[in-house]
Amino acid sequence: MVRLAECKDKTEHKPIEVLLLPKKVYIPLSQHLGKICVPEVKVGDLVVRGQLIASAQAHVHARVHASISGKVTAIQDWPHPVLGRCKAIVIEGDGSDKLSSPSRITQAEVDSFSAEQIRNIIFEAGIVGMGGASFPTHIKLNPPKPVDTLIVNGAECEPFLNSDNRLMIEKAKEIIAGIKLVAKCVGAKNVYIAIEDNKPEAIKQFQSICDKRYAISILKSQYPQGGEKQLIKNVLRKEVPRGKLPFDIAVVVQNVATIYAIYEALYLAKPLYERTVTVTGSCIDNPKNLLVPIGTPIKELINYCGPITTKPAKIIIGGPMMGLAQFTDEVPVIKSTGGVLLFSEKEARVLEEEFCIRCGACVRECPAGLMPCLINLSSEKSLWQQAKDYGVADCIECGICNYVCPAKRRLVQTVKRAKLEIAK
Ligand code: SF4
Ligand code: SF4
Repeated sequence: MVRLAECKDKTEHKPIEVLLLPKKVYIPLSQHLGKICVPEVKVGDLVVRGQLIASAQAHVHARVHASISGKVTAIQDWPHPVLGRCKAIVIEGDGSDKLSSPSRITQAEVDSFSAEQIRNIIFEAGIVGMGGASFPTHIKLNPPKPVDTLIVNGAECEPFLNSDNRLMIEKAKEIIAGIKLVAKCVGAKNVYIAIEDNKPEAIKQFQSICDKRYAISILKSQYPQGGEKQLIKNVLRKEVPRGKLPFDIAVVVQNVATIYAIYEALYLAKPLYERTVTVTGSCIDNPKNLLVPIGTPIKELINYCGPITTKPAKIIIGGPMMGLAQFTDEVPVIKSTGGVLLFSEKEARVLEEEFCIRCGACVRECPAGLMPCLINLSSEKSLWQQAKDYGVADCIECGICNYVCPAKRRLVQTVKRAKLEIAK
């Protein structure tokens, strides 16, 4: 693990602001791992906020809902922050924020839900892992083996991002209510709320309202503290063996933003159609944390936080370590978008790659215990079986190997390529 410059100061004290309703949203049919959804609406249909607009006939998928009220004007190919391009449902807003099912569920009703009912509501709400993984949550909360421990991931270890931090500060009570539901759902007796020590306000909030059943685990701020296996190791002092998943050692890890979405689905009957996004970087004058309807093009967020002081040379969705550079500001916010970063030419400069000097820094620092320099060589020679034998599947794509390499080798890019080739 490494200690990075945090660069969180510009937005850590800024409360979440609600973005003005966009005139048009572009809601991708794929915002999750699994089968791409098919539209349940057609061009010309009138929809309201929260209405189901796409689903799939498959076990692994997450439903998609309208994020604004208005008219479906197109179902078309559109830029996508992860996939490059993807079919999207275009809704032109009518300016109202009329909801499909405005309701509040009583505490007694929520308490009466069984684990199966909780999972079903999560499925219907289209909830996915909002920390970046995008795996459908109703499947994650139905592990194939018994689980006794839930770790709530409030690490948010990527520099610049504060969307989870602000959520923890402003919605701690709601997150606690969501944690109870998740613990019930997976049958966890032990609950740890893991927060990095660079978020004192969030820690204070949870310490003031948490009952003794939940342990607050204050972790050193380092990267990638929020990786599931790294978090388990640092909270429980337990290792998830190579090739295994957390449930193999009876643990489930769930991100705080996802837990908040679960709270909203269960208590407010609200599907996942909006999320908190940090908009920041050196090119923006007025960085903010925004509550944004899914499908809003990021240029709307950038304009709202403007003016732009310097023309950005690079726009990243996500954090600077694991996020993805974008080729257009038309890409929409999706369920896993935690940040939009705007970097200047100087910051975005790509240094020339040199020969490996075999210093071993990438091997020493890899949190997955891999040898990125050797996987890099296998990948460059298209020796995919060799890359597999080196355990490439365990790479969490954290980018540390690139960060520490004095020769500026593009290690993570070649490691990702090897993973893709093996998956094919
Ligand atoms: S090989 Fe993967 S897990 Fe290891 S440092 Fe590089 S990106 Fe991170
Ligand atoms: S850190 Fe870079 S130079 Fe050092 S061993 Fe790894 S690839 Fe080679």
